[in-house]
Amino acid sequence: MGESYKVAVIGAGIAGLLTARELQREGHHVTVFEKATKVGGNWIYSQRGDTDPLGLDPNREIVHSSLYKSLRTNLPRQAMSFLDYPFLKKEGGDDQRTFPGHEEVLRFIEGFARDFGLMELIQFGHQVIRVELVDEVTHEWVVESRTRETESTWESKEELFEAVVICTGKETEPNISEFPGRDSWPGLQIHSHNYRTPEQFENKVVVLIGNGPSAVDLLKEISPLAKQVHVAVRSSFPMLRVDNYDKAWQHSMIECTHKDGKVVFQDGAIVDADVIIHCTGYKYHYPFLKSNGIVTVDDNRVGPMYKHAFPPSLAPWLSFVGLTNRDLAYLMLSQSIELNVLISILKKCVYQAVVFRVMELQARWVAKVLSGTVELPSQEAMSSSVEQLYSEMEKKGLPKNHTHGLMEAEVEYASWLAAQLNIKPLKRWKELTVVSIVKGVVQYGENFRDTWDIDKWMQEIDSSD
Ligand SMILES: Cc1cc2nc3c(=O)[nH]c(=O)nc-3n(C[C@H](O)[C@H](O)[C@H](O)COP(=O)(O)OP(=O)(O)OC[C@H]3O[C@@H](n4cnc5c(N)ncnc54)[C@H](O)[C@@H]3O)c2cc1C
Repeated sequence: MGESYKVAVIGAGIAGLLTARELQREGHHVTVFEKATKVGGNWIYSQRGDTDPLGLDPNREIVHSSLYKSLRTNLPRQAMSFLDYPFLKKEGGDDQRTFPGHEEVLRFIEGFARDFGLMELIQFGHQVIRVELVDEVTHEWVVESRTRETESTWESKEELFEAVVICTGKETEPNISEFPGRDSWPGLQIHSHNYRTPEQFENKVVVLIGNGPSAVDLLKEISPLAKQVHVAVRSSFPMLRVDNYDKAWQHSMIECTHKDGKVVFQDGAIVDADVIIHCTGYKYHYPFLKSNGIVTVDDNRVGPMYKHAFPPSLAPWLSFVGLTNRDLAYLMLSQSIELNVLISILKKCVYQAVVFRVMELQARWVAKVLSGTVELPSQEAMSSSVEQLYSEMEKKGLPKNHTHGLMEAEVEYASWLAAQLNIKPLKRWKELTVVSIVKGVVQYGENFRDTWDIDKWMQEIDSSD
C-alpha cells in the first residue's frame, strides 16, 4: 500500500461506488457526496421528469435519472457484471431475466454498495455546488455542498480534500436537436430523458428524432397507442425497423417546423404533428467545477483529459471516472455513418459492451495512481498525448463531440488500462462485444431480450477454447 489521501468522490452511481471501493482498497480516506437519498444514479427510477420537458430552461427542477418505466437493460446482465462481483440471477429473485428490468439493476448496485461497506462513506442528500482548487502547493480542494433544509431553503458547508474524483454521470443534461422553427412550434416537445410512459401519446401524431436505443424502445412502446409515429433519422440502422409497425414511417432529419404545427422533413414529407420527442443523447455538464478555465466542455469534449481521466496540469488530484461513451447511436447521429462502416468499426470493439468494466478499470487506475503504486507520465507527456488524440481525430474528420465515444479505440484503451493494473483480460471480455450483441439484436429482432438464448451462447463461449 502506498500514499493515503483524503479524497472526495462526487456521485454514488456505478462510477462513484466503484471508485469509492477502489480508493478504500488502496487505503485512502473517502467521502462520497450524493445529491440523491439512495445509491444507483441513473438506475433510480422516478415517475416525474424535469419541470421543463425539453430541458432548455437552466432553472428547471432536474430529475437525475433518464429511465422510462418499462426499461429493460440493452445488454445481458453478464456484460454488466463487475470483475469480482457478478450480476447473477438470484434464486427466488424478483427478476430472473437475462436482460432484466431497471429495478433489478438497482438491486444489484445496492447489493454491491452494501457488500463492500460503501454506504457508510456516503453523505446522502448532499449536492455539490463547488469544487475548487484553493492551494496549488498542498493541492487542497474545497468541496462545497448543500442540503435541503426546507422546501425553499438550503444549508451549505465546505470541506477540504487532497483529491477529488468526479463521477456525476453523463446522461442527465439533454442534447436537443436544432432546426428552424423549433422554438415557436406549438406542439409538445420533450427529450427522451423525460419520457416515462406512453399513455399521453394515445391518438397523437408523434415525431421521434433519433435511431439509438431510446428511439428503438420508444417507437415500440408508443406505436401501438399513437395515431402515427414518424421517425427522423440521419442514417438507418437495422435495430430501428419502422416496417414492423403499421402506423410508423421513417424519414430523413427535420428540415424545419411551422407555427401551424407542420413538421417538414428533408425528404420532402410534411406531417401535422402533435408531439416531437428528441431521442438525441446527452451533454457533459459540470456546473460546480471551478478550474480557472483549465477543464472545459467544448462541443461535448471534456478537456484536456489524459486517457479520459486526468486533466494533465491538475493530475492526479482531480480526475473523472465514467466519461467514456459507448453509445453507438451517438456516432451515427452525429456523422451519418453507414451500417457496413459501423460494423467494420465494431468488429474491433471487443470491450465495447462491457461499459461497467471500463469504469471499474478507470476507478482502479485512479485509486492506484493516487496511492503512487501506478505512475503517471510527466505533465508534458500527458498533454502531448491529449494533443495527439485531438490531431488524430482531426485527421480522421471526427468531430470534437466524439472524443469520449471511443469506438474502435476502446479495445486499445481498455487493454491499456488493464496493462497498467496488471490485469489479464478474461476470455469473456473478448466475446462479449457490441458487434456480437448488435448481430444478435439484428438476428432476433426487436424482441431480442426474450427470444435470444444468451445463457446458451455464454455457455458456448465458456466451453470453447
Ligand atoms: C436510458 C438509459 C438506459 C441505459 N441502459 C444501460 C444498459 O442497459 N446497460 C448499461 O450498461 N448501461 C446503460 N446505460 C448507461 C448507464 O447510465 C450507465 O451504465 C451508468 O449507470 C452510468 O453510471 P455513472 O455512475 O457514470 O452515472 P450515474 O448513474 O448518472 O450516477 C451519477 C451520480 O452522481 C450524482 N450527482 C450528480 N451531480 C451531483 C452533484 N452535483 N452533487 C452530488 N451528486 C451528484 C447523481 O445523483 C448520481 O447518483 C443506460 C443509460 C440510460 C440513460
